[in-house]
Amino acid sequence: MRSKLMIGAAALSILALTACGGPAGTSSTGEPDAPDETGASSTEHPYGLEVAESPEFEAGSTMAELAEGGTIRIGTKFDQPLFGLVGPDGKPEGFDVAIGSLIAAELGIPFDSIEWVETVSANRETFIENGNVDLVVATYTINDARKEKIDFAGPYYFAGQALMVQAGNPAGIEGPDDVSGQPVCSVEGSTPAATIVDEYGAQLQATDAYSNCLDPLRNGQVVAVTTDNVILAGFVDQNAGEFELVGDGATFTEEPYGIGLTKGDDAFRTFINDTLEASFEDGVYDSLWEQTAGVVLPTPDAPTLDRY
Ligand code: GLU
Repeated sequence: MRSKLMIGAAALSILALTACGGPAGTSSTGEPDAPDETGASSTEHPYGLEVAESPEFEAGSTMAELAEGGTIRIGTKFDQPLFGLVGPDGKPEGFDVAIGSLIAAELGIPFDSIEWVETVSANRETFIENGNVDLVVATYTINDARKEKIDFAGPYYFAGQALMVQAGNPAGIEGPDDVSGQPVCSVEGSTPAATIVDEYGAQLQATDAYSNCLDPLRNGQVVAVTTDNVILAGFVDQNAGEFELVGDGATFTEEPYGIGLTKGDDAFRTFINDTLEASFEDGVYDSLWEQTAGVVLPTPDAPTLDRY
């Protein structure tokens, strides 16, 4: 029942050396994987995951309902390189997308049957509470205020808040203490927006998605953009020569990423945590990272889950 990569350990290390940003679709020989006995080929899953065949779950559980329905609605970001970015084919890609598709695969739901819903920072709890999505995987920091409304599985990654400035750092920002009273762009409903105002006295220019902060930084309307280091690293990578991270990406908060789900659905939370834990141990987590964010960022140590 467990999702496994249809590649062996040797292929995994080859992947690590040759990761080029494209999802794995070939075996270690470079040939497309052979069709299995059902006629399905592993090349069908963009991250090389095996989709569980007819998995069984306790009747009435969220897992049983989703598995039976054959689809799942996953909220993610559509504008964040490395984690959740809609590509030319209209499908999102990135580490959050890969993690979401891992949960789906474990439920027997193939990649093409996932309904991706764009969530921005401010609407994630509401989308979960209103039942617009079954899960949110969207650079989503676990914290107590959010836990009053929803539950989190994870963490599956530890990010931290950082600052991005124009290349050459014309405003001379060396750290968060330098933005006091200065215009800084971030996203409403995000933890970094609150921190930069409450703890560092910045003058917040708020928008709804981080990609909207790039032009204000280019034209000098703001001195910096602030959010998690890994989101900013994606923008630096995508806009060659335009931006840089302050202090080489030095972080000044901890942002543990969790998977948001309906508050009180403990069985679903346990299932997601079990799925994450297995992926930490069998190499799938590392592979999903290397196929996505790992193109730019170092492979993290697998985090310790918080099964509260
Ligand atoms: N991780 C932070 C948060 O959940 C910032 C990134 C985001 O807005 O998605 O608020």
